[in-house]
Amino acid sequence: MTVLKYIKLVVLCLLFSPLYAGKGEVLADFSVWKSEFREVAGDCGISSDTLDKYLDNISLQKRLIKVSKRQPEFSKPIWSYVDSAVSSKRIRKGRKLLAKHSDLLKKITEQYGVSGEYIIAIWGLETGYGSNFGRSSILNALATLAYGSTRKEFFQKELCAAFRLLQNEKIDESQFKGSWAGAMGHMQFMPSTFEKYAVDFDNDGRKDLWNNLSDSFASAANYLKDSGWDMGRDWAVEVKLPEKFALSLSEPTTWLTVKEWADLDVTYADGRPLNLDEEDARLYLPAGRQGPAFLSFRNFQVLKEYNNSESYVLSVGYLAHRIRGGHELVSEWPRKDEALSLTQKKDVQFLLTVLGYEPGAIDGRVGDNTRQALRNWQGDIGVPQDGYINEDVMILLK
Ligand code: CA
Repeated sequence: MTVLKYIKLVVLCLLFSPLYAGKGEVLADFSVWKSEFREVAGDCGISSDTLDKYLDNISLQKRLIKVSKRQPEFSKPIWSYVDSAVSSKRIRKGRKLLAKHSDLLKKITEQYGVSGEYIIAIWGLETGYGSNFGRSSILNALATLAYGSTRKEFFQKELCAAFRLLQNEKIDESQFKGSWAGAMGHMQFMPSTFEKYAVDFDNDGRKDLWNNLSDSFASAANYLKDSGWDMGRDWAVEVKLPEKFALSLSEPTTWLTVKEWADLDVTYADGRPLNLDEEDARLYLPAGRQGPAFLSFRNFQVLKEYNNSESYVLSVGYLAHRIRGGHELVSEWPRKDEALSLTQKKDVQFLLTVLGYEPGAIDGRVGDNTRQALRNWQGDIGVPQDGYINEDVMILLK
């Protein structure tokens, strides 16, 4: 790297470092913010009675503002995430709970077309099967984040929805608690998700996502159904690629039928020929060409509606697969790869930008744009285009 490029890199990294984020921003007094919120609250359907009842008692949670802005320098590699999300303990417990709640889940499956193991898997990931809902007051948390986080608009909308829930649903305010980001109950619904998808499945006159498993499970199923879940289909299947394969086909916009993938000599992970109904699938390489490969189906995208993180979706799908008795992954993860730090990921994005590719914002978050820019660069220099960022790639870029 030339000296000039190095200086540019340092300046850019400094600019995007967490030290700089939000510096110079002066927060208005929380009580001023409250009176401003009172002005807009009417527009989002909150009555003055409701505001009078709750707004004054809301208290600022300073600690939360810090938490919401924290960007960890190191994040887990995907295999560590999957290992803990789909631990053998969680699989065993999931199987027991699937059996225990089989009557209820059967009714829900009949009505919403979502199989029980997916509901149990989401439950397992969201709250450890109901063992941890979070203890934050939803109003305190959302008001604090609407006032002082980097995503004020998002949290203000959720705060409006939270007020409407207290106003329009029979919810006991003392149990209106959840995660520090405002997710509630067994399935960790945000208030706006609650408004859209929560159902009173046991017909007792309340949508209770904290104490009632019928309502909680059916609400999650309703959410998936409305997002396009197709019960006749799987979420993904592990596959094996032939020795020589155009890895550029792993770009997320490439959807081929299973037959077309089979014609490219893609097989099941154990080498058997693919034998699936005609269906669109994309090639998903969560850890590049060294790790397990998947054909993922439309239901994978539906799970992304629930939570946009691919590590999360992979874990929910894989946990559901294991709960229903499916086997372990055939391919090994590239466990020798060290996770890149946030700074290193920003370096990669910066270098791609300098070289004329378009990875999007230099924020250390590796999403579709960064992976696509990397694939394009890999194609231009003639190495396999798997779009996977590790230390070798960083060294090569430099
Ligand atoms: Ca109910």
